[in-house]
Amino acid sequence: MDRNDELFERAQRSIPGGVNSPVRAFRSVGGSPRFMQKASGPFMWDVTGKKYIDYILSWGPMILGHGNPEVLRAVHEACDRGLTFGTATEPEILIAEEIRKLVPSIETVRLASSGTEAGMSAIRLACGFTGRSKVIKFEGCYHGHSDRLLVKAGSGMLTFGHPSSAGIPAGVTADTIVLEYNNPQQLEDTFRSCGSEIACVIVEAVGGNMNMVKGSPEFIHAIRDLCTRYGAVMIVDEVMTGFRVALGGAQSVYGVKPDLTMLGKVVGGGMPVSAFGGRRDIMNMVAPLGPVYQAGTLSGNPVAVAAGLATLRLVQAPGFYDRLTSISRRLTEGLTEAARSEGVPFCADYCGGMFGLYFLPKVPTRFSEVTRADTAAFGRWFHHMLDAGCYFAPSTYEAGFVSIAHTDKEISHTIEAAREAFAALKA
Ligand code: PLP
Repeated sequence: MDRNDELFERAQRSIPGGVNSPVRAFRSVGGSPRFMQKASGPFMWDVTGKKYIDYILSWGPMILGHGNPEVLRAVHEACDRGLTFGTATEPEILIAEEIRKLVPSIETVRLASSGTEAGMSAIRLACGFTGRSKVIKFEGCYHGHSDRLLVKAGSGMLTFGHPSSAGIPAGVTADTIVLEYNNPQQLEDTFRSCGSEIACVIVEAVGGNMNMVKGSPEFIHAIRDLCTRYGAVMIVDEVMTGFRVALGGAQSVYGVKPDLTMLGKVVGGGMPVSAFGGRRDIMNMVAPLGPVYQAGTLSGNPVAVAAGLATLRLVQAPGFYDRLTSISRRLTEGLTEAARSEGVPFCADYCGGMFGLYFLPKVPTRFSEVTRADTAAFGRWFHHMLDAGCYFAPSTYEAGFVSIAHTDKEISHTIEAAREAFAALKA
C-alpha cells in the first residue's frame, strides 16, 4: 500500500467517496486516485513524489501550464491588497473588457464562480427574457449540475424530463427537452412542434463531456437559424472551449454568433471565475437592471479575477493557438500511429488545445457512438500510462487537454509509453 492508497482510505472516512468531485475518483478504471502535492509547467507530482505529464490540467483551466510566473505574481499582488471586499473593483471592469474584446458576441458580461452557476443563470435569464419555459439540451452535453440541466438523454428520441440524478423533482426537469447531438433534423422537428414555447437551446459546440465530439457546422448553424426563426435564445456553453479551442472560443471556429455565452475554466486561470454574457438587450434583464435575479458573495473575487486577467492577456501572445494546436496534433497523430502499428482499434481527434482519444474504429459524432468504446481496453491502457507517468482522464467520457508548456520531449515520451501500452493490450 503506498501513500496514495493510504490517503484514499483515510479520505473515504471523512469525504463521500474520498473525493470532492466525482470525476476525480477512478471508479471506471479502478485503483486509488492519485493525491497530488504540487505542479509546475506540464507536470504534477503525487504524494509519493512520482512525476506525471498532466493531460487533465485541472479539467481545462491550466492552458499556460501550472505555476505560470506572471499569473502567480498577479495573484500574489492581489492577495496583498485583500482577499475579498464584496464591493465593485476595477479589475472586474478590466476582465469584462478583455472578454468583450476577445468574444465579440458578448456585449455585457456578469461574473460568477463556477460553470454550473453560469449555466443555471443563463437558462434563468433566457426564460425570463422570452417569457417561455422549455429548454433544449443535447444528449452527452454537460452544463454543470444545476437541477434543470442535469437531465440524461433518452435513446436519441425526444426525452421530456428524466432526471439523471436522484433528488431532482420531476417537475423541475419537465420542461427540459433532450435531443440527439448533431441531429439538425430532430431539432427542426422539435421547433416545428413546440417552437413558440422554447426559451433557449444550450449546446457545447465542441462537446467535451462525452469524450470530445465536434458539432458539425450544419448542426451548429441549424441551432442558430432555428433560434432566430422562433425567437429562442441560443446559448453556447464555452466553459470548456472558451480560450481553449481558439482565442475566440468555439463560436469563432464555427463562425456563429450566439445570443448568450457561458465561460469558465480558462477565464479563471485556475481560480474560481465563470461568466455569462451576450446580447445587451438580454443581459439588461439581469438584476439590478432587470427582474432576473442572480448574485454571488464571491463573484468577481479580486484574487480569482487577477489570475483570469493575467491568463487572458498571456493567451493573446502571437502564435499562441497555432503552437497549442500543433502540440495537440503531434500528440494525437503520434498516439494514432502507435495504436495502428500495434494493431489496436483506436483513433483520436483534436481542436485547439483539446483532444479526444477513442478506443473505437472511428471518431464518434454523438453520445450513442461514444458509449461503444472498449472501456476495458481503455482501463488497462490508462493504468499503463499512469505507471509510465502520463496522467490522462480516468474515463472514456472525458476530453483531454494540452498546455502551452507541453514540449516535444513530453509528447515524445507519451507516444513511446503509449506504444508499449497498446502492445500490452494484446498480451
Ligand atoms: N459546462 C461545461 C461545458 C463543462 O465542461 C463544465 C465542467 O466541466 C461545466 C459547464 C460546469 O462547470 P463547473 O464544474 O465549474 O461548475
